[in-house]
Amino acid sequence: MAMVAPSEGGAIPWPLGATSYAMRTRVRMGADLVWNAHLIGIDLDTIETSNLNRQFLFRQQHVGQSKASVAAAAVQAIVPGVSITAHRANVKEARFSADFVSGFDLVLNGLDNLEARRHVNRLCLAARVPLVESGTAGYLGQVSVHLGGVTECFECQPKPVPKTYPVCTIRNTPDKPIHCIVWAKDLLFARLFGPPEAATDLDDAGEDPGMVWEFGGGGGGVEAATTAGPALLRRSGEPAEEYALRVFQAVFVADMERLAGVEEMWKGREPPTPCALDLAAVGERVRLAEESAAGRGPGVAASGMSSALGLPDAQRAWAPEDSAAVFLASVRAFLTHRAEEVGALRFDKDDALATEFVAAAANLRSHCYGIPPQTLFEAKGMAGNIIHAVATTNAIASGLIVVEAMKLLAGQSKACHTTFLLAEASNKKLLTPMQSPEPNPNCVICGKAQLLLHADLHALTLGDLITQVLRGRMALVEPTLVAGSFMYEEGEDLEEDEVAFHSQNLTKPLSQLPGGGFATGTLVEVTDQAQQTSFRILVQHKDTWDEDAEPLRWEIRGELPASTFGKEGAGPQPDDGSEVEEEGFEIVEEGTALPSKTAAGGWLESYASGQWTGWLTVTAEPRSGDETLNRVWMDSEKRSQPPEEKTLVWKEGKEVECLLDEIKAHFARTSPVKTPAQQAAQVAQLRAKLPAGAAAPDDRLLVAATSLNMVESIALLPNLPVHGFVGVNMYVDDEGSIREAPFNARASELATLCGKPLQVRGDAFLSRVLDDGEAFRRLDFGANDLSSSAPWVAAAGAKNAEARRGEGAQAILQRMQAEGAGPGPASSPSPADALKQQGNAAFKRCEWETAVRLYTQALEAESGLVAARNNRAQALLHLQRWREAGADAEAVLAAQPDNAKALLRRAAAAQALGEHAAARADLEHVLVLEPGHREAALRLASLT
Ligand SMILES: [Zn+2]
Repeated sequence: MAMVAPSEGGAIPWPLGATSYAMRTRVRMGADLVWNAHLIGIDLDTIETSNLNRQFLFRQQHVGQSKASVAAAAVQAIVPGVSITAHRANVKEARFSADFVSGFDLVLNGLDNLEARRHVNRLCLAARVPLVESGTAGYLGQVSVHLGGVTECFECQPKPVPKTYPVCTIRNTPDKPIHCIVWAKDLLFARLFGPPEAATDLDDAGEDPGMVWEFGGGGGGVEAATTAGPALLRRSGEPAEEYALRVFQAVFVADMERLAGVEEMWKGREPPTPCALDLAAVGERVRLAEESAAGRGPGVAASGMSSALGLPDAQRAWAPEDSAAVFLASVRAFLTHRAEEVGALRFDKDDALATEFVAAAANLRSHCYGIPPQTLFEAKGMAGNIIHAVATTNAIASGLIVVEAMKLLAGQSKACHTTFLLAEASNKKLLTPMQSPEPNPNCVICGKAQLLLHADLHALTLGDLITQVLRGRMALVEPTLVAGSFMYEEGEDLEEDEVAFHSQNLTKPLSQLPGGGFATGTLVEVTDQAQQTSFRILVQHKDTWDEDAEPLRWEIRGELPASTFGKEGAGPQPDDGSEVEEEGFEIVEEGTALPSKTAAGGWLESYASGQWTGWLTVTAEPRSGDETLNRVWMDSEKRSQPPEEKTLVWKEGKEVECLLDEIKAHFARTSPVKTPAQQAAQVAQLRAKLPAGAAAPDDRLLVAATSLNMVESIALLPNLPVHGFVGVNMYVDDEGSIREAPFNARASELATLCGKPLQVRGDAFLSRVLDDGEAFRRLDFGANDLSSSAPWVAAAGAKNAEARRGEGAQAILQRMQAEGAGPGPASSPSPADALKQQGNAAFKRCEWETAVRLYTQALEAESGLVAARNNRAQALLHLQRWREAGADAEAVLAAQPDNAKALLRRAAAAQALGEHAAARADLEHVLVLEPGHREAALRLASLT
């Protein structure tokens, strides 16, 4: 993941010291993170030419130097007197322990890999130090704030799992460019230039389905290997040219012929074609290119041959002859100019020669298999598992990091936001801020969740468990395991005999470990001293596996808690019956205690004097055809005047956006323009909150902060079944207070009566909707409804008061069930309906299999039950039956293209299947329908 400069690949703890130090903070926006405080920067990387387009502290002459040191020097030149300690180091080193972190006020992450981000998250939790996390990927970005126990930790939400590929696909039957890239990088490159004793699978034509290559997450590498055939190694005294040709013949000709001859492999697809190129001509071209490179100076060939071969454009795909020339030239260059490295090389995406080799080898293999070639640029991105960084995205993320850091330093932690930067504007905004979510009780790291490991206990060894599961998946550094009388530990403190004692168990299958071995029901306590973290794993034996889906023959659950598919505020119970639309269990507003939050929103709420004005109400009067006519009421700011009714036209299927767009346009027209005086007052108010002696923050920071605004929607009456799925929403300008819009006494009073004590400034809009999960419809909301004694006001007041008293989701559910399923028809349900309701009941008991069976029966009886299909999609997601879930969601969307839940479900399925572009499109669609939708925003971020 591309990261925020200047700490690409590093974390920057913000020192505690005296408070005055921590507060001496100066920020420049629009460039990199630049500050004026006592800082420590940690970064392992050196500066590459390819960094210069987006890491503004670095210049051409810095290439090859430590990022941390150059960044420190650059900042010191800009801000004289700033104190910075630069470490060129890996943030996972033992010296940067939780104790070390506890010496700082704040940690800012700009890391480029998930493992390190998880590590720092755990250190910050252990040290109880706030963490500002950030990530960008292309045009997408996010900045979040993590306060242990108060907000989500970095690991509370699911993270993408590194993609793995079945070994036989990589070795024999590739059908995508990525398969060829993985082969070129993890097999061929490792075989030719890596340690000769570390066998790869290249020479082994046998089947070993237990073997896979893990792609991404730190350079990949071969997870396991069986034989060490030396056929592709260079023979002693073999000239480089001969060796390069011999490898070419072996892998692109002889091996293709051999594979094409295995008939049973090609029943359903085309066999590969051996490479038939004029290698004499290619060899001559390579020789000329070598002369040309040598003429340009020593070391030229060592850093890439494509230019010398007349292929300077990294964005243009090579012809097979070009790939062959690059292949031969790069092998020869490694052997001739970097001979001392050969035998110890690991693929590095920033090594230009290695990238050229991988691109060329992958393209030649693609050519044999009829797979389209990739450009050097694309191949580098795939091989490095990177999404190319965009300077502007990084700059915006840097600015947001500083905004959040400022809030924390000013003691405004409650005002912290999680902000998503979208690729395309949602409601004309690229930034989507939301309140930092509460900790997820199902989080393994900061909550109390227990992991469930399904594995073939007779096959998975202790070593596999540690390498693949605990280090690979869970990002541990020094795991210690205790299960009954069995114990395994590692770490630098151990004596040699202890290390020997523990390591003798590494090759044993889990079922054969001392102390009786692991069996179904074994509970393993895992701790990591380095991260001061611990959790428990419940083991369950499973001996039949779908090799395509789970090539490693293990699966861990709980790390990606299924309940995160649920709605926010659902509480700790597995009560994601919240997703059963049929029950309309929308407790989004009820589960959360309502702060007396003003419409100003966010951290600037302290400026809100807390009032709004005026009314606008929306009424709906459907008209046939695509367009629907609305009457809209609007009133002036004085409560003595009546509301005013207007008319609004929307497009069928665009009910949600049309209203929000109209409201935004209204505020844009009518809200007072922010005056320089108001701006100055905001700045002054913020400054007044800083402790004495602290330096002032840059004004531009505050301008950026005030741009984080949206129309705020308040669900006065939730659309629960007891209310006939009818809800009433209020929409206000979230900058109303900042702009000193007039106080809206009537809106404030109404919100308070509804159990949502708000103080409203500026116009408020009311709308009434029917949303039963199957249909979304706007209903009339007229002047007569604007009465403190209206029944809906009383219902809302009771419901919201109940939520504030802390009634849990489960209790609400039980009471709702006792009350019956709401105002449905009094007649007895149809057989299909009855099955559907049984399905819903099973769903609420988290009996997914049963729910799927009942929904299926219901759909067989009546295929048009959209909600049953939509719920079945969710149950299938819980069962991790992604394709079926996706198909159900797809069918729902065919009938209801704007069904947000179906979009979310299709996105979840697509994400699990690695179809990120499709997932992204659906999530962005949801955000258009419901701006600021939390789950959609989180999922979108987790795609980065
Ligand atoms: Zn957590």
